Amino acid sequence: MDQRVTDTEMTMVPLGEDYPEIRAGVRAICDKYPGAYWRKLEKDDEYADDFVNELSASGYLGALIPEEYGGSGLPLRAGCVILEEIHYSGGSAAACHAQMYMMGTMLRHGSEEQKQRYLPGIAAGTIRFQAFGVTEPTTGSDTTQLKTRAVRQGDKYVVNGQKIWTSRAHKSDLMTLLVRTTALDQVKRRTDGLSVLLVDLRAVKSGLTMRRIETMINHQTNELFFDDLEVPVENLIGEEGQGFRYILDGMNAERILVSGEMLGDARYFIARASKYAGERVVFGNPIGKNQGIQFPIARAYAEWKAADMVTRAAAALFQAGKPCGEEANTAKLLASEAAWHAGEACMQTFGGFAAAKEFDIERKWREARVYQIAPISTNMILAYIGQHVLGMPRSY
Ligand SMILES: Cc1cc2nc3c(=O)[nH]c(=O)nc-3n(C[C@H](O)[C@H](O)[C@H](O)COP(=O)(O)OP(=O)(O)OC[C@H]3O[C@@H](n4cnc5c(N)ncnc54)[C@H](O)[C@@H]3O)c2cc1C
Repeated sequence: MDQRVTDTEMTMVPLGEDYPEIRAGVRAICDKYPGAYWRKLEKDDEYADDFVNELSASGYLGALIPEEYGGSGLPLRAGCVILEEIHYSGGSAAACHAQMYMMGTMLRHGSEEQKQRYLPGIAAGTIRFQAFGVTEPTTGSDTTQLKTRAVRQGDKYVVNGQKIWTSRAHKSDLMTLLVRTTALDQVKRRTDGLSVLLVDLRAVKSGLTMRRIETMINHQTNELFFDDLEVPVENLIGEEGQGFRYILDGMNAERILVSGEMLGDARYFIARASKYAGERVVFGNPIGKNQGIQFPIARAYAEWKAADMVTRAAAALFQAGKPCGEEANTAKLLASEAAWHAGEACMQTFGGFAAAKEFDIERKWREARVYQIAPISTNMILAYIGQHVLGMPRSY
């Protein structure tokens, strides 16, 4: 009953070549990790080690790292395509996507010494860079109010505070951590005084406690407690006090990349639903003949297509070094909704079988729902469009 989707079931938009070799290569790997693999991981609350290792060894996770550091030096769109194919296959890129979007912070703002030290290992798959600590339990989306403090003492920073939802920290070698280095009441703007530290988790002997959080999907996420954690000053990324800007300028890449995942989910649901709707006969007819089944799938397809176009536009602008906040945010909004509506249509089409775990649809449906909350919630995206694109007043 392990139904997989094949490439021929849903063709891509003919906008020219869109990394067909990469798509085929990623699909070949994903074919070795079918629904049963992901179901077992979730049941056992395990991380997708084998899948991530194979993807790293094949070079796909180093796709965005420049060639001089051992990567493939491909554009952001290639990263999107890799993540999309993982999701279209029924898998989940949550196990490994952070590496792609965090790379930009190190590339754009890290020192040459930091790049030489870490990027070749990340590209080769010997160093995992999958953890990203920004969100805190008491301040949530209001990032500038975060309370984790790093105080410089000689050649090290001493970190105290707490993070939440730090996904994959227990499975990562490196973590980027956003901390306050200058107290809020001593800075001119609330966005000042924050810094990005690169924490080498392999070197941590004390001062950091991790507690796993059980979630509705297998996301391998954690709560982190810092109690005099020492981080060498050489692990500061860029300039002290500029961290908020560094994180912010990585956000567009993150939004575009995760849009790829959601587009993959939408394709997965639409392909499965339309196929099943044509095959399942009830009352003497295929259920797909009924407009109550057919139209939600058709509508989801239209939504997917629109989201796909905007995601491609956002990636193209990003690559050209042009402003892309509007497109990246719009892509994330539309892709998350396309995935969710496609998931809803798929659930309804499969009827009772949608609830059977071995069909994988309920697992993918649960995953699709979370995209409207993380990595950024829909309201924050709408606030961006309302305020920055349409010039309406700020709510915060
Ligand atoms: C599975 C999972 C994995 C995650 N992984 C990571 C990770 O690896 N690293 C990391 O740093 N974080 C991670 N996060 C955190 C995620 O980025 C946050 O959950 C998300 O940004 C929302 O923050 P919050 O949960 O604190 O919600 P809150 O900020 O408490 O907001 C709650 C709700 O209120 C809305 N809201 C708040 N203010 C306004 C306003 N002014 N106008 C309109 N609506 C508003 C929000 O949009 C949201 O819907 C993860 C979260 C999840 C669920």
